[in-house]
Amino acid sequence: MEAILCYGLFFVVDPHRYGGGRMDQAPPIVHGLARLFVRSSASITIKMKNLDGSIKNAGQHEWRFFAEMAADSSRFAVLYNRVLLAARDMGVGPDALPDFLALEGVDNFDLLGQEELLGQRTFDAVVGVQAAKKRVRSLAGDVETMRIAEQSVRLGQHRFAASVLENYAHSCGFCGFAPRSLPKHKLLVASHIKPWADSDDRERLDPRNGVVACPTHDAAFDTGLITVNGGLRVHRAPRLEESSRTDPGVDRYFGQVLHPTLVVPTGGSPPGDSYLTWHREHVYRGRLAG
Ligand SMILES: [Zn+2]
Repeated sequence: MEAILCYGLFFVVDPHRYGGGRMDQAPPIVHGLARLFVRSSASITIKMKNLDGSIKNAGQHEWRFFAEMAADSSRFAVLYNRVLLAARDMGVGPDALPDFLALEGVDNFDLLGQEELLGQRTFDAVVGVQAAKKRVRSLAGDVETMRIAEQSVRLGQHRFAASVLENYAHSCGFCGFAPRSLPKHKLLVASHIKPWADSDDRERLDPRNGVVACPTHDAAFDTGLITVNGGLRVHRAPRLEESSRTDPGVDRYFGQVLHPTLVVPTGGSPPGDSYLTWHREHVYRGRLAG
């Protein structure tokens, strides 16, 4: 039960961010589970590091469990629901054990943001580096180590996409499209401003390197037809301007409908300047002064 819930925590918490003195900053669910298991909060993140193979002396059953979950993602939702059901049967209510993944009654769910990793040659290299860092490597077979490392990278990408979607209040930063009544239909994309493949480990997980867009505006941003300057003003590349003037089909999605500046909801963090600069210099199909 503890292993299942601690594996579930990986969807919302990076245990490597909360060592030693930073434990206080860990999300409330970490402290909540610690109370439930009558353990310290630090022991929860240590348990997670045992699971993902970061601690050399971890019991084999711990990282094997992580590898099994990684191999068959549909199993986790089933196990998680069983734990919640058993807890409710024992009188443990949502106050003591909330459905922190919003999966109660859901039998399968996909990690967010994985489309961005598809077909990336860099992906295998990044997984290889992560595998080399796993402390259990001497114990685990290579296939398992690679599986654990790959899942760690995928979970990091999931957490990145989830926090970027949250930051933009689930709406397109360019046109405001906000399909809140259809959350499972992938009508919004949270992607990197400085592309995943060009970013380093820190930049890949930094929510300020993310923007949320509808699929059309995401593709236009990704291929450099639009960009955003340091003042968050949205710019159209010359060829898009030209198309928009002469082609009503293009103008419909890139004319008036585009906000003059990127919309970051109240309370959200604007994108980091260094990422926007990178996008203007390496992706944008036009030139901007400054
Ligand atoms: Zn849009």
